[in-house]
Amino acid sequence: SKIVIAIDGFSSTGKSTIAKQLAKQLNYIYVDTGAMYRAVTYFAMKNELIGKDFFHSEKLIERLNEIHITFKFNEVLGFAEVYLNGENIEKQIRTLEVSKYVSPVATISEVRQKLVEQQQLMGKDKGIVMDGRDIGTVVFPDAELKIFMTASAETRAQRRYKELLERGHNLSYDEVLENVTTRDRIDSTREDSPLVKADDAIEIDNSDLTIEEQLKTLLELAAS
Ligand code: C5P
Repeated sequence: SKIVIAIDGFSSTGKSTIAKQLAKQLNYIYVDTGAMYRAVTYFAMKNELIGKDFFHSEKLIERLNEIHITFKFNEVLGFAEVYLNGENIEKQIRTLEVSKYVSPVATISEVRQKLVEQQQLMGKDKGIVMDGRDIGTVVFPDAELKIFMTASAETRAQRRYKELLERGHNLSYDEVLENVTTRDRIDSTREDSPLVKADDAIEIDNSDLTIEEQLKTLLELAAS
């Protein structure tokens, strides 16, 4: 029978890579909740509610009802892309700029409430793999399988750096490392739903594991 699989962890631990493949193997839905926080951030940036030295969080809260986030499966890519008010923003949300502003946006309780509610609806029929920071603790505290992924900060920054370069972004490794560690700090110290391992989550350090090895482990756990 179908279950809920929650995958949480720090930035760039390879959660989405493994979650996507796991969902495919199990014929489950995959939901990237980070993309939803990024979509809200993109909206805030486009509407000049957040920028280099300002964040009009009250105004963002007032305008949350103007934000409609949807996912649509892309057959070619093999995963669901994120849409903001009907516009495909999959590419736009992966920039370092969005990565810089997303953690402050994710501290806002009203933002979290809105997204958590939508996430819970998406998982109500089970058969879902969801990755994020608070899935096993807040979104699905009763998930049948909870994973907490870790890897050294350098391993993570290296991965993210490579990924951004491949996407044609021009930046330095140090910038990426700085972003990864800053986000981890904000995410784990915020008041509302801080990033912590759920008591019943299984911790996997994947610094030295291949994707195949991780997938095998997760498939075994999902079947048990
Ligand atoms: O997963 P990703 O790195 O794309 O997430 C971007 C940011 O969104 C995280 O650094 C965190 O601030 C926020 N986030 C969150 N809760 C989630 C998923 C993401 O606060 N469930």
